[in-house]
Amino acid sequence: METNASNIPEPAETPEVLLVDDSELVHRLLAARLRQEDLELRCCFDGPAAIESAVEDPPALILLDLEMPEMDGFEVLRRLKDDARTRDVPVIVLSGLDGSDDKVTAFDLGAVDYITKPFALVELRVRVRSALRLNRLLQMLAQRAQVDGLSGLWNRTHFDESWNIAVEASARYERGLSLALFDLDHFKSINDTFGHPAGDAVIQGFAQLIQKVVRKSDLACRYGGEEFAVIMPETDPEEAARMCERVRQSLEEMTWRAHPERNVTVSIGIAGTATPIPLPATDWLERADKTLYDAKRGGRNRVEVTDLGGTVGISKAG
Ligand code: GH3
Ligand code: MG
Ligand code: MG
Ligand code: MG
Repeated sequence: METNASNIPEPAETPEVLLVDDSELVHRLLAARLRQEDLELRCCFDGPAAIESAVEDPPALILLDLEMPEMDGFEVLRRLKDDARTRDVPVIVLSGLDGSDDKVTAFDLGAVDYITKPFALVELRVRVRSALRLNRLLQMLAQRAQVDGLSGLWNRTHFDESWNIAVEASARYERGLSLALFDLDHFKSINDTFGHPAGDAVIQGFAQLIQKVVRKSDLACRYGGEEFAVIMPETDPEEAARMCERVRQSLEEMTWRAHPERNVTVSIGIAGTATPIPLPATDWLERADKTLYDAKRGGRNRVEVTDLGGTVGISKAG
C-alpha cells in the first residue's frame, strides 16, 4: 500500500536496545559483541531504573537479566507487561539460569526469547536481529492499521486518538489549536453521474491536494466517506481559514480526467482558538461539525469559521 501522507512517520532510525544487567562485565561484553550491529545500546544496572527508562522512551528491544539484587528480572518483566506504555516492547531474557521452569516462567510473562549465559556470539546476534525485525514488522502493521487505504491519509481511528491528544496538549502547553472539517459537495451525484471509480479518483485527488497545502505539523485524516479532517496545532482560526481557503480554491480549479466538464467543490467548517480554552475534545468536534453545516447551508463551496476563543471564553466567564 502506498501512503502519501507526509505526516506519517518514516520507519524508525537506528533501533535502540535497552540492556538491563547488574554486572558491569556483561555490559562491556555485550557492547563489544553487538558493536557491528545496526543498533544503539542504552544501559541500566537495575530493574527500577530500567522500567523508568523504558516508560520514558520505549526502546525497540530490551535485553533483561534475571538475577539482579534489588528487583529480579521476572518482576521487571511483569511490570513492563502490565504497563500499556511498555507492553509492546519485546524482551529477550538473558540468564545464567538454564532450568526449564525459569524459561517457562519468562515466556509465560511475555518474553520473546531466552538466551543463557555465557552467550554464544553468533546466537546472540541472530536472536537480537530477529527480535528487532519482528518488532519492526509489528510496528509497521500497527501503523498501517491507522492509514486509510484509498486516500493514504490517516484514518478515523488515528484521528480520534490524535484529536484527543491535540486538545490536551493545547490546554497543557497553552497553545492555540484549530480543527477543520471538509465535506465534498454533492458527492453522491459525482458517483451517480460518472461512476464509483470516478468518485474514488476525486477522493484520492482531494487527499493529495490537502497534503500539499497543510504544514508538516498538521495532521490530515480521512474522517469518513467523502469527509476529511485536518488537525492544526498552534494555529489560530484565522490562519486555519487562510489554509482552508487555499484548499477550497485549488479544488474548485482542478480538472478531472473522468469528467473534465464537471468541477468538484468542498465545504469547510473550522473551530479553533488562538488561546487555550476549557472545551472537551468531543464538544470541540461538534462545534466544527456545526460550522461545516453552516457552510453547507450557506450555499456550499465555502469556508466558515468559529472562533472558540471568543465564544467559549465569554460563556465560561459569564
Ligand atoms: P452534500 O453536498 O450535502 O455533502 O451532498 P453529498 O452528496 O456529498 O452527501 P451525501 O452524504 O448524500 O453523499 C456522500 C456520498 O459519498 C455517498 C457515498 O456513496 C459516497 N461515498 C462514501 N465513501 C465513498 C468512497 O469511498 N468512494 C466513493 N466513490 N464514494 C463514496
Ligand atoms: Mg545478574
Ligand atoms: Mg458527507
Ligand atoms: Mg458531501
